[in-house]
Amino acid sequence: MSAFIQAQDLRKTYRVGKIQVPALRGVSFDVAKGEFVSIVGPSGSGKSTLFYLLGGLARPDSGHIFVDGDDFAALSDAERTRLRKKKIGFVFQKFNLLPTLDARSNIQIAVDIAGANGGYDSANFEKITSLLGLSKRLPHRPSELSGGEQQRVALARALINKPALVLADEPTGNLDSENSEIVLKMLRQTNQELGQTVLMITHNPEAARYGDRIIHMRDGGIVPPEKDPQWAGVTK
Ligand code: ADP
Repeated sequence: MSAFIQAQDLRKTYRVGKIQVPALRGVSFDVAKGEFVSIVGPSGSGKSTLFYLLGGLARPDSGHIFVDGDDFAALSDAERTRLRKKKIGFVFQKFNLLPTLDARSNIQIAVDIAGANGGYDSANFEKITSLLGLSKRLPHRPSELSGGEQQRVALARALINKPALVLADEPTGNLDSENSEIVLKMLRQTNQELGQTVLMITHNPEAARYGDRIIHMRDGGIVPPEKDPQWAGVTK
């Protein structure tokens, strides 16, 4: 069976005036369906650029990036946007919740934005919010929720359209260690129970260990763990 994600020799260089800044210098890897992969590396190693390409938010200069059979590098902006809405859920370091809406509406709004076929699926809503321990917190606005609860609402919003892929960029970057652990356990649990493929960028070795596998990035490429001195001993 072919991989769910196939990155093939991805290259991306930013141009700032006359200066060229290489961000990805030939990145190739596969991710199987249902796998949870952590991506680590120092600042400037190309993690965010890779995240944008995986999310269809940018295109590589060359190479291919197959997500569930579609090559994001070959699609138009409109086609990538359509697939992004249908197939990908995003979680960011900032929770990005709307302050005037309660938790329920912050999650439901993702259904409206995606224009999901068949409309609102209340059984799916109940399943995800109860899996994330949010059932009693739904009437509350973000300002009435802890950081961990806010990130769980953001995770529910990412999952509500049943994406095949969840992309998380430093999801615990704004959380204390207790809430980080709760959110990571929930991300892991939803990965196992709902079956999405998860790619998570993180700076935190403890967080990285929640993945099935760790990809180490350095200077725009993937390096073997033993060549990543900052992460000595952090392997799976
Ligand atoms: P990371 O997420 O690991 O910090 P990035 O993908 O953000 O890495 O950055 C990789 C390289 O590309 C760095 O040298 C960074 O300065 C550069 N870079 C990233 N975004 C831009 C941009 N919009 N314009 C110019 N250079 C950029």
